[in-house]
Formats: sequence, structure tokens, C-alpha cells
Amino acid sequence: MGPFTPFERQELILKFCDAIEANWDELCLLDTLEMGAPYGRSRREIIGRLRFCAGLATALHGETIATSVPGEAFAYTLKEPVGVVGAIIPWNGPLPATIWKLGPVLATGCALVLKPAEEASLTALRLGELLLDIGLPPGVINIVTGFGETAGAAIANHPDVDKVAFTGSNETGRHIVRASASNMKRLSLELGGKSPHIIFADADLEAAARSAAMGVFANSGQVCCAGTRVFIEKPIYDEFVARVAEIARHLKVGNGLDPATEIGPLVSGQQLDRVVGYLDIGKREGAEVLAGGGRLTEGALGKGFFVQPTVFANVGDSMRIATEEIFGPVLSAIPFTEFDEVVARANDTRFGLAAGVWTRDLSKAHRIAARIRAGSVWINCYNIFDAALPFGGYRESGYGRESGIQQLEEYMQVKAVTIQVG
Ligand code: ADP
Repeated sequence: MGPFTPFERQELILKFCDAIEANWDELCLLDTLEMGAPYGRSRREIIGRLRFCAGLATALHGETIATSVPGEAFAYTLKEPVGVVGAIIPWNGPLPATIWKLGPVLATGCALVLKPAEEASLTALRLGELLLDIGLPPGVINIVTGFGETAGAAIANHPDVDKVAFTGSNETGRHIVRASASNMKRLSLELGGKSPHIIFADADLEAAARSAAMGVFANSGQVCCAGTRVFIEKPIYDEFVARVAEIARHLKVGNGLDPATEIGPLVSGQQLDRVVGYLDIGKREGAEVLAGGGRLTEGALGKGFFVQPTVFANVGDSMRIATEEIFGPVLSAIPFTEFDEVVARANDTRFGLAAGVWTRDLSKAHRIAARIRAGSVWINCYNIFDAALPFGGYRESGYGRESGIQQLEEYMQVKAVTIQVG
């Protein structure tokens, strides 16, 4: 069987959408059973993203270029699949994370070896089965389970892997970069963050408080772009922090299969220890606990890895809870006085994945969007993802873009063909 044509790839992705819809409940259930998030994924996120890639499968093309000597030489570019992609993904959203890699691979005609996280491998395996069911030949998409240091490292080091698309921690990201040197693999790295969420006094405070809270607490804070440093303009600081703490106290934390649950557990005992460790660090550093501050131990919750949504007030910029990625439901509320000052402090981080800004002043919003050093800036909202939008980091949050046409470009080689005509 020869390579799939763009038309065939498009049809295959659309068939894959149908197979996912037909098995939707099971896929959502696998995610919840494995990592605890409240049951139910966004159809727009999963199906919409795949359809976006299906549309692009027949819309990828090179360019014609006149060259600097138009009468003598004519040139064009060809776009080709980059080859074998190794995808290494984390556990914090197995279904979406797998789809974010599968969509562009199928659209561009690459082959894939995908390693899900050891904590949550079942959803990716099931998606692999569905692809075989709809007629994808074995060997095109390969789901390989295993630990990071063995299976993950084998992908990262392999001489026949042309590109690695990695989503995960900064520490592992550094291993991947080193491993890529062996054969000059292409890389895209979507790593951690310590994203600022800036609340100006003129904002819609009710909506901003909800957004600031859920920008951290959603998925129990296990989100790379969580807006964990919440900068609040001084005149509204006390009122705003009280609102956020109130929201935190009322969030329903529990079993992801209970429809009333808003916040599930952390993924593992290891993650629980890490987050509780940071809660202790925050207290020792002198931050004030306005909500939460510990593990949840009542009744059945004591058997799981549940942590209270936590709001720390009076957090100093250099405290560890304000500089290190915690990956748990821990919000740091930090006061500020002026525009230039908050821009400088928001950018004073080694990360640069995302930022949020709340203001009713449009010119202020545009000015700050231009000055924030991060791959995504959300104004009067947070955590809005769209298949058409590039997503990725500045600085130590990584390089390359996931999502959007930009991601597909990174799964393709470009070849320049020049013809002498003069
Ligand atoms: P997290 O802290 O979120 O678990 P990791 O970066 O450790 O983040 O894990 C993300 C993915 O990277 C997982 O699939 C994991 O197995 C994999 N991984 C971990 N260590 C390595 C490594 N040395 N080489 C390649 N992959 C790894």
C-alpha cells in the first residue's frame, strides 16, 4: 500500500471522529478512571480539533517564488511529511493530549510512535485500537507504553525518529533536548509555566474572580498554563482576594465520577506529596492561607489524593510558591500598583507559556498583550483553547507551537526546487 493521499488522510480523520463519537463515553471514562479529572471532555476540543486537522489535510501546499533573477530561475517549495514523529505526553489530560499529537500526524502524513504517561496509558491505547478498526494499516500509528527513562528515552534517542513532540516537565524537556543532538531531531517542547493572571481595578470583578480561581483550580491545578501568579491592583486587592477565597472554599472536590464534582484528586501519591510539600513551604515562607492549605481527609476523600483548593495571600515575588511550578490547586495572590511595574513583575520569570489580563480599558489590554512575554495572552478570559490558535512557550516553557496551522508546519519538511529557465 502506497502513502495515503491528502484526500484519503482527510477521510480517515473524519472516520476517526465518528469512531471517537461512537465510543465517547468510554474514552471519557478511561480518562477519569486513570487520572481522576471530573468525567466529561469537551467535544469541541476533541472532535473540533480533529476536524480542523482534516480540513487542513487537503489544504497544505508549497509556494511559487520568483527568485531575484526572475527571467533566469523559477522556484517553488514542496511540503513533505517530516517522517517518523515520536510523541511523549503527560498524564494531566490523556484524551486531549493524545489528540493534539494524532491530528497533525494524520493530516501531514507522518508516522507516529506515541508514548503515553505511565500514570495514564489506557486512553491512548484505546485510540490506537480505534484507528486500526477504521482501517489504518498497522505500523503507521504506534502506541508504546512504558516508563520515561526507558521507553521515553528510547524514542528520544532513536536514530530513525525524525522529530520529537514532547509535552511534560522542564526537567525531562532538558533530557529530550540533549537526546535530540544524536541525530539532530526536530523538537517541539511544551513545558511548564508559572503564568501571571493580572487583575486591574477596572475589571468586571465577579467574572475576573471566577476566572482567576478556575485558572488555577481547574484539573486540580495540573495544567501547564495555570495562571498561578494572580497580580491584583492594590485598591481592590482585599476585596478581590476575599472573593477568590470564597470561590475556593465552595468548590466541590471529590470523585471524578460524581456529577456534582468540580475538582478531582491529584493524579498520584507522588504528586500529592509534592503539592502538600509546597503548601508547607508557602506557610514557612510567610504567605497567609486564606482558603484551603492542606490535604482533604474527611471520609472517603482520605483514601484518595485530594487537596483543598488553596489561596495564599501576601505572596512575595521571590517566594518559591511564586516562582516554581507546583502543578496543584495553589494560587498566589500578589498586590501591584502600576502598569509598568506589573508588566515587569509578570515577565520576571524563567517561564513564558501564558498570561491573563482583566480590564475594561481596551487600550490598556492591547498595550499589555504586546509586552507580555508568553505564547498565549487571554484578555477578560482564561484557558480558552482553539484548534486554530498556536499554543506554546517563550523561554523555558519550551519552543515550537502546538495547535494551529503552525503546528502542522512543524510536522513538515520544506524543499526548495529551483529551475533555470533563462
Ligand atoms: P510529569 O512530571 O508531568 O510526570 P514528565 O516530564 O516526568 O512530567 O513526564 C512526561 C512524559 O515524559 C511521560 O510520558 C514520561 O514517561 C516521559 N519521560 C519521563 N522521563 C523521560 C526521559 N528521560 N526521556 C523521555 N521521556 C521521559
